Amino acid sequence: MTLAVLAVALGLGSAALVVTRPSARWITRNYRHPDRLRAAVAGAGGALAVFALPCVITPSRSEVCGPFAVVAAVGLLGCVALSPIWQRRAAVSLHPRRVLAIGAHPDDLELACGATLAKLVDNGGEVCTIVMSGGGSGGEARRRVEEARRGSTYLGAARTKVLDFCDTQLDIHENEMVKVLERAIREFRPDIVMTHSANDYHQDHSAVHRATMRAARREPTILCYESPSATPWFSPVFFVDISRHIDVKTHAIQVHEDQRKKPYMSPARTRGIAVFRGDQARAGLAEGFEVVRMGAASVGDL
Ligand SMILES: [Zn+2]
Repeated sequence: MTLAVLAVALGLGSAALVVTRPSARWITRNYRHPDRLRAAVAGAGGALAVFALPCVITPSRSEVCGPFAVVAAVGLLGCVALSPIWQRRAAVSLHPRRVLAIGAHPDDLELACGATLAKLVDNGGEVCTIVMSGGGSGGEARRRVEEARRGSTYLGAARTKVLDFCDTQLDIHENEMVKVLERAIREFRPDIVMTHSANDYHQDHSAVHRATMRAARREPTILCYESPSATPWFSPVFFVDISRHIDVKTHAIQVHEDQRKKPYMSPARTRGIAVFRGDQARAGLAEGFEVVRMGAASVGDL
């Protein structure tokens, strides 16, 4: 085996370890069993690097390590070749649902209904997200705006708008928000509108809830999601099983690095809420929604 081939093998093995590192979000969003795929690719890639490295350093050892490196390379190629089996593919739906999700701050949608939005996209739906403020009071506005866009893109939203209404003072701009939302509803024609709950302590969340109720007054289906600032009176009656999308949700939340020190950003908390709502829903893991009203034809397969 030539030194050049072994050097390439070493590079491939190392690259496999890098692209499958636990923080690599793309695997979680694109594959149904990301942990298994990570383990398989990282295992084969690691073995390839381990057996190729001594051959490159001491060519005389290639007699011993070379065959093992070949087996590891075949394993790695096999993993890559079989990976499309586990790929998440957007389903083709005869009546794709159009969902307009409205949040006050850059991380609100990922925290509250990120898994449901990703699931809707994977079920063939189309998601449009609107974020009312750049969140300048709670962090670095420019960075948070960018993270809002990246978070929505990661979930699969087809369109994202991040507006610049003044963070923590959205109640002053309620009438302007109504106009913006009316225009968005007219243009996007959603089947489902999702927004903050009235049972929420945060003044911006309450203001966005009120503005959405006014703007979506003619819409058949309005669901209100659960924010970390929900009051004890938040009472969901509509649940979405997110067992296959919980990792997508935790990774979408991690996109918001500017807010990473906030206690409600932790994967443990996200999973804890999903377990609790899943218990209520008699499902594995769930996100819960309050229902303002629901047209049966609007929801479809969730
Ligand atoms: Zn918020």
